Amino acid sequence: MDMLYQTITKNNFKKMVEGLMENNEVIGPKWRDLDTEGNKIYRFLKLNNFDELQMDYTRSYSSPKNFFLPFKEDLATYNLNDADWDQQIQYTIHPRVIIGMRACDINALRKLDEVMVKSVYPNPYYFARRRNTIIIGLDHEPLEDCFCHSMNANVVLSGFDLFLTDIGEKYFVAINSDTGYMMVNRSGGQEVTEEDQLNFKKVKQQIESKFKTQVDVTIVPELMDLEFESEVWKKWGDKCLSCGSCAMVCPTCYCYGIEEEADLTFTRATKRRTLYSCNLLDFAAVAGGHNFRPEPHVRLKYRYYHQFRGFVEAFNQSLCVGCNRCGVACLAGIHPKAVIDDLIQTETR
Ligand code: SF4
Ligand code: SF4
Repeated sequence: MDMLYQTITKNNFKKMVEGLMENNEVIGPKWRDLDTEGNKIYRFLKLNNFDELQMDYTRSYSSPKNFFLPFKEDLATYNLNDADWDQQIQYTIHPRVIIGMRACDINALRKLDEVMVKSVYPNPYYFARRRNTIIIGLDHEPLEDCFCHSMNANVVLSGFDLFLTDIGEKYFVAINSDTGYMMVNRSGGQEVTEEDQLNFKKVKQQIESKFKTQVDVTIVPELMDLEFESEVWKKWGDKCLSCGSCAMVCPTCYCYGIEEEADLTFTRATKRRTLYSCNLLDFAAVAGGHNFRPEPHVRLKYRYYHQFRGFVEAFNQSLCVGCNRCGVACLAGIHPKAVIDDLIQTETR
């Protein structure tokens, strides 16, 4: 459907969410803890009541990706009886709602859709979760290190049901699905007034003016080829601890490993997928003991290659959405902006 716009008062939004909670699992940003500097740590989790929903949250350290690509999932289970066996595959998902996703995180899902839904080998587990999840996005002012603006991921026009912008007493709502339209209209959605439009523009301009971090990615795909042997990879790769945290928090990383586990009686077995990271030591290890990428700097380089070069070639867009979660999670202080700036400087020196 074409995008429609309405407004909803905050009180009616609360009633809408409480109504959704009656029949669906509702997930949203919750306050979990404080960091060492006393800042709140938020995480997307199941909400038990509306008051747990933190619509003013700043950043979630891990992304909502894991509601679509869980860290671990059983793909199939097997029962073995004498010479006979049967296989069970389960991808039924109870309908659920995720509230509060940022534009960059919804754009991250749209990128995953390219691989998991539209590619030659779609992922039915991901597809079932995506189809059965209502997404209510939320605008926000960027943090100092967000560079989603540089990655064209700060604005989203599809991939959600509703997208909210806080304009004071109400939310300005972009409606992008029939389900979203019904939800808003049943909850007292109102026509957009001139005053609402003015307030919306003001908020959008304010958001736009708050971007501080820019990463120049215009020549990065070519640079990745030109600087394939650059010392920059060694410089940053030598710091890398090969811990894989960057991929775990990234809203778009989707590398995985498969393992099969049989119980001790050999009557039951499970095929399991676990998200993995291309920075881990054994990611490119193969049978026979050979490792195609034994050094950390080569693995780091390939992660950047996938994000900023390989995905561009395959889908005409970068895989990175500029959230800088990887930079925050990295104990070695490896930030995408620093690595890319370094590559650009090498080329222009
Ligand atoms: S900034 Fe880092 S975590 Fe965020 S999308 Fe890009 S590579 Fe992934
Ligand atoms: S989080 Fe940092 S140290 Fe860990 S694998 Fe990623 S780049 Fe290397």
